Amino acid sequence: MSLTKKLTEVISATGELFFPPICISCGTHLFKNEVEICQMCIRRLPRTHFENRPHDNQISIMMWGRCKIELAFVLFFYRKGERVQYLLHEIKYRGNQLLGEELGRQLGVSIKKSDVCEFDFIVPIPLHPKKLAKRGYNQAEVIAKGISEILKVPLDVDSVIRNIHTSSQTRKGRFERWQNVEEIFKMTDMERLKNKHILLIDDVITTGSTMEACINQLTTIEGLKVSVASIACAAL
Ligand SMILES: [Zn+2]
Repeated sequence: MSLTKKLTEVISATGELFFPPICISCGTHLFKNEVEICQMCIRRLPRTHFENRPHDNQISIMMWGRCKIELAFVLFFYRKGERVQYLLHEIKYRGNQLLGEELGRQLGVSIKKSDVCEFDFIVPIPLHPKKLAKRGYNQAEVIAKGISEILKVPLDVDSVIRNIHTSSQTRKGRFERWQNVEEIFKMTDMERLKNKHILLIDDVITTGSTMEACINQLTTIEGLKVSVASIACAAL
């Protein structure tokens, strides 16, 4: 081991001695195998258990007639002002990428339980380049990284991109606005995705319109199947 590496380890261990990592939800000290949030807090969050019926759940029903999806997985239900919304806020606006990866791993574990997870690629919904530049990372990609680690399915962040030229929607008519939504996403490599099954990731599914726009673009590719996964969806 190099001296620098050894020194870094010593400094990190000393840091943990004086500032032991604590759960962002309840403030208790974390065990070695816990990242950002303790097991007790994770267990208290409202699970959807969609992994038990990935073909037929709230999200697949919501998407019926709008776009074609194979399976849908969501880890938690969220309600305004509750714990899950706070965690999503941490991931999206407060730079907590470690939490994003950890919840991605938790989602990965639940997907694995369903026994129907034969995906070729994990694809995060791309962020608008302006937002990406401002935030410095794509929260969907951070979550996708955690899922990829558990499912051992490669991450693909290059095949789908967000169109840079999406102009403001406000002054457009309904048809133009719809057309505009359809053009938000662009595929860079149609060949790569031909006859594949991808798992499309977003941090949260609310109205489903972002997913819908992305999936309707993707399913123009021959033989491509799309499943979706997300950390949370609105509780009905
Ligand atoms: Zn806790």
